[in-house]
Amino acid sequence: MGDKKTYKFGTKAIHAGIEPDSATGAIMTPIYQTSTYVQPEVGVNKGFAYSRTSNPTRAALEANITALENGHYGACFASGLAAIDCILKMLKPGDEILSTNDLYGGTYRLFRTIFEQYNLKFRFVDMSDASQIEQYISDQTKMIWVETPTNPMMNIIDIQSIAKVSNHNNILLAVDNTFATPYLQRPLDLGADIVMHSVTKYLGGHSDVVMGALVCKDESIAKKMYHIQNASGAITSPMDAFLALRGIKTLHIRMDRHCANAELIAKYLVNHPKVDKVYWPGLKNHPNHAIAKKQMSGYGGMISFSLKGNQKEDALHVLKNVKIFSLAESLGGVESLIGHPVTMTHSAIPKEEREAIGIVDSLIRISVGIEDIEDLIADLEQAFNK
Ligand SMILES: *Cc1c(COP(=O)(O)O)cnc(C)c1O
Repeated sequence: MGDKKTYKFGTKAIHAGIEPDSATGAIMTPIYQTSTYVQPEVGVNKGFAYSRTSNPTRAALEANITALENGHYGACFASGLAAIDCILKMLKPGDEILSTNDLYGGTYRLFRTIFEQYNLKFRFVDMSDASQIEQYISDQTKMIWVETPTNPMMNIIDIQSIAKVSNHNNILLAVDNTFATPYLQRPLDLGADIVMHSVTKYLGGHSDVVMGALVCKDESIAKKMYHIQNASGAITSPMDAFLALRGIKTLHIRMDRHCANAELIAKYLVNHPKVDKVYWPGLKNHPNHAIAKKQMSGYGGMISFSLKGNQKEDALHVLKNVKIFSLAESLGGVESLIGHPVTMTHSAIPKEEREAIGIVDSLIRISVGIEDIEDLIADLEQAFNK
């Protein structure tokens, strides 16, 4: 079927890593719901020996996501956090990690409450100006952790500029690409060493699986990744791998609609008399719009906004009165979600700390779905006016 590596994104999303089933010709990768594989004789197998180590459904998904990120090696995990856990286990006690300071809450919790106990050291710094990070690097610094766009403030970090610093200092650069997806942003092409996904979000796309993934190019990183995946065992199931494969087939068309809907909602919010600030990287007045434009091919479906007067009650009023948007954690599914970071995702962060990065009482975060835009805007309008 030609060299799938040269295919364009949408073709790869549907075909990369996927072959008709060798036993039956089934066009869809079967759910190989099996723990073990019969060996014709001692020391001989058909490439699979035990499903923690590898499984055909999972292997198809890993090959597919690897192709989308333009990597060479990929591994799927039980959750996004299990994937991050694998990256951290590549490091040793005493190693330092330099991390962006505006970070997914679960990542921060894993860093601080688990891996600090094993003597990994974390430093949280503002990476909006890449030229400033060199000063934080010491002999112990072994990895830079970047999330872009960030949650919930939609800050953008210049991956290529950070990669110059990490390469120059021989440090790993890992990028959480969950918000952008490989359709909009490919960190390995920009010089990163490892890209991480919460497949739970846009890749799966249907709010029906919890899963993580890692992709890299370098063989020595891949060896560690597969060793840890097998040794620690935080793998994804064949059923979930099947669901993610099915979800990814429409990633490109879903993302186009997420981006188009988000653009119209961002513009509607900017002009709304009750709205104060709107955070969406596609807006020309977004502080990092130029970097977003350079490193992303679209601006994504996540928007945060605050209300004039900054009253928590006003935000909760909107949340209570929307009918199509659902009040829920998570993001990236076909259905629109709405949330209040201060009481939901970011409640654990002290008030002063969160306000310093812009997470104010009236901040609302929306994951714009792929419903009809007229209905979404009408829903927000009636909720504002109620
Ligand atoms: C959800 C999320 C994670 C964690 O992924 P899980 O699949 O929930 O474990 C990590 N990073 C970002 C940016 C996320 O949105």
